[in-house]
Amino acid sequence: MNFHGIHEKTLVIVKPDAIQRGLLGEIITRFEKKGLKIVGLKMMRLDDAVLREHYAHIADKPFFPGVSNFMQNSPVVVLCIEGLEVVEAVRLITGITKARQAEAGSIRGDFAMSVGCNVIHASDSVDNAKAEVVRFFEENEIFEYYKSEYEFVYMQDEKES
Ligand code: UDP
Ligand code: MG
Repeated sequence: MNFHGIHEKTLVIVKPDAIQRGLLGEIITRFEKKGLKIVGLKMMRLDDAVLREHYAHIADKPFFPGVSNFMQNSPVVVLCIEGLEVVEAVRLITGITKARQAEAGSIRGDFAMSVGCNVIHASDSVDNAKAEVVRFFEENEIFEYYKSEYEFVYMQDEKES
């Protein structure tokens, strides 16, 4: 899987609170309007095992059982999003973890009030993004395709970087 230049990839999970609150379309629209390319998209249920792996860095915290339970409240939608420096760009669009302090204009800043119910997950580094994309997508579920709007999303030298 190519993670270089404009093919850098990140993993977004649209969490159960967003599914319940009807925010899925709005969230996808924000990524599309930014000029990002959706190269993978599916609905799935998460189980204890994948959540323990995905949230290994918080698995020992007292709030982890609550997070695990919350993430299994409904199916989630996982997105693989591609673009130049996309990991950083999507973290900015996401906003900080504690949503009620997240910057207005970010997804969490505009749509959430909680630390736990914070609407989406987004990979926090390029290395974590690589591991997370592979965790949630099979190779044949990631699509490479021509996007005509790239003519006006990037300068030529950026496309060749
Ligand atoms: N979380 C929580 N309470 C906390 C910290 C984190 O419920 O005090 C949850 C929250 O849903 C967060 C997730 O655990 O999104 C993963 O935490 P992380 O620090 O990786 O935040 P994120 O990368 O999602 O901003
Ligand atoms: Mg995180």
